[in-house]
Amino acid sequence: RLGEYTVMTEPSSTSRIIDGKAFAAGLRRRIAEAVAAIKAAHGVTPGLAVVLVGEDPASLVYVRSKGRQTLEAGMNGFEHRLPAETSERQLLDLIDQLNRDRAVHGILVQLPLPPQIDEQAVIDAINPAKDVDGFHVINAGRLATGGKAMIPCTPLGCLMLLKGTLGDLSGLEAVVVGRSNIVGKPMAQLLLGANCTVTVAHSRTRDLPEVCRRADILVAAVGRPEMIRGDWIRPGATVVDVGINRIEGAGGKTRLVGDVAFEEARAVAGAITPVPGGVGPMTIAVLLRNTVIACCRQNDIAEPDL
Ligand code: NDP
Repeated sequence: RLGEYTVMTEPSSTSRIIDGKAFAAGLRRRIAEAVAAIKAAHGVTPGLAVVLVGEDPASLVYVRSKGRQTLEAGMNGFEHRLPAETSERQLLDLIDQLNRDRAVHGILVQLPLPPQIDEQAVIDAINPAKDVDGFHVINAGRLATGGKAMIPCTPLGCLMLLKGTLGDLSGLEAVVVGRSNIVGKPMAQLLLGANCTVTVAHSRTRDLPEVCRRADILVAAVGRPEMIRGDWIRPGATVVDVGINRIEGAGGKTRLVGDVAFEEARAVAGAITPVPGGVGPMTIAVLLRNTVIACCRQNDIAEPDL
């Protein structure tokens, strides 16, 4: 309110919605072409092993779609489902077997694991060359030092969306909210590698809204529904929302929202990823991409540009 007047402001523009679903479909098409070319020229079929321990319903859904999309890309999929009471030793034995299997180029162990199994011990046991999730310390170290890493799928998917939307990212101010090993930290490394000026914010950051307002590129990977408000966003900025939060909607039905208040943000941002349909679909497509790259590196085949 200004004096007695209510100032009605129409958003000067609404943002471009970044269509992650369409982008991921395009990437999967290119992957299928690359797989066909590798098979024809070298007689090798990229193979992905997915290991699921227990019956977590969300994990089951992910594992099923990973398996389906692997086959659709013309690759081999090997699914290993183990009971919830599997011991760490039994899981490590399976990892050892997959590490030695020449038909398996990528190994993914679906997290979270049951409490009797030490996740870090399992990640450490995966051959770094087959670590298509990019969680092994060797791959984290290579990413940090500019080496040939396997790069975590979700942040690499975000980088692809950003490059697809903005082109060259050189010199842009990037703010990443979240510093997990799976998303925030590798995202920051990738943006640094793309010559952005990078700030990593987290739960102890002072004046988070002000830090966010610096960003030409704002990546939210927090896990708090709609925490980032419209007035935290610099007009024209590109917003990538990694968050997947299930909240109760109208009529007791649950729905998915991101870490960004989408309707507010889209009135200010230049471009924004929706939830669902933004970053989510990219993650599995990049997993397939990483498996193809891992297969090429293990067989001395020139890497396709994916
Ligand atoms: P984590 O819980 O591991 O990390 C969350 C990060 O957010 C931490 O660094 C934490 O800070 C920070 N944080 C928490 N609260 C605040 C706050 N109030 N202000 C500022 N920072 C805060 O989560 P992940 O990185 O694994 O995942 C983040 C989100 O992304 C989740 O919603 C998850 O579901 C989603 N996700 C989506 C994927 C996809 O395919 N699209 C894949 C992976 C994750 P601190 O370190 O100080 O505690």
